[in-house]
Amino acid sequence: MVDEDKLLKAAQIIKDSNYIVVFSGAGISTESGIDDFRSPGGLWEQYDPNIYASYQYFLQDPSLFWKMHKEVEELVGEADPNQAHLAIAELERMGKVKAVITQNIDMLHQKAGSGQKGAKIYQLHGEYGKLHCIKCGNEYNFDEIDTNSVDYPVCECSGYIKPKVVLFGESLPHGVLESAMNECSNADCLIVIGSSLLISPANFIPSIAKQYGAKLVFINRENTIMDDLADVFLKGSAGETFTKLLKMVKSNI
Ligand code: NAD
Repeated sequence: MVDEDKLLKAAQIIKDSNYIVVFSGAGISTESGIDDFRSPGGLWEQYDPNIYASYQYFLQDPSLFWKMHKEVEELVGEADPNQAHLAIAELERMGKVKAVITQNIDMLHQKAGSGQKGAKIYQLHGEYGKLHCIKCGNEYNFDEIDTNSVDYPVCECSGYIKPKVVLFGESLPHGVLESAMNECSNADCLIVIGSSLLISPANFIPSIAKQYGAKLVFINRENTIMDDLADVFLKGSAGETFTKLLKMVKSNI
């Protein structure tokens, strides 16, 4: 159960803010059926992300990544946005959320309607739907390549084909982190939701926003390594907490 006083405090911060930036991690999508890396059980106990989502391992043997990909593709493809994604899109329609910075590759913010009223979306770790050859850079759509009858797809140039997601040990897409950090300089509030804040350099975002004077609201099921930065830490599930928060913001608190 989320602490009512803290909810009120967070709702007041949101009411007083006009340039909210949301920073989301895998935890926002667990209620949509996509497991995060840290919580016990689920996909990642079967597929250790340090191996299956490692760029170094991909370069040695892409079949490991593609084995895991088949399961992730199904989960991501079937997933629908949950109450938390929908509430963020609603706050954008209310003129409050101006940008969403996400570590997720599942496109659920876009499916929920984020970006439709002009909020910018920064996908720090890329997205699942697009692929490219890591040797020649040629781009592909999923319907152009065969991932079923081979261990891993290969480009005409003999390079490995890989979804445009950032694996562990791989650098971020050019310019996206810089633009996201720049966005933090405009923010009067940063909502951090569903992230352990363990992954660098994405986890620089909260301290940068704080440095520029934004109020920080954290929503997470468990403590993070950066809770000291938060003006309010709401311990609870993303969907339930955001639903309550949105209701309070819309009412005359
Ligand atoms: P993480 O797995 O390190 O941490 C997730 C955090 O969310 C945890 O602290 C957990 O307690 C919390 N959490 C889980 N379910 C929650 C819920 N329903 N409500 C509130 N909090 C909840 O995630 P991260 O910090 O985003 O870093 C992991 C990396 O994994 C990212 O780089 C991301 O790209 C990748 N990833 C993405 C997806 C996705 O696209 N949905 C899924 C798995 C991993």
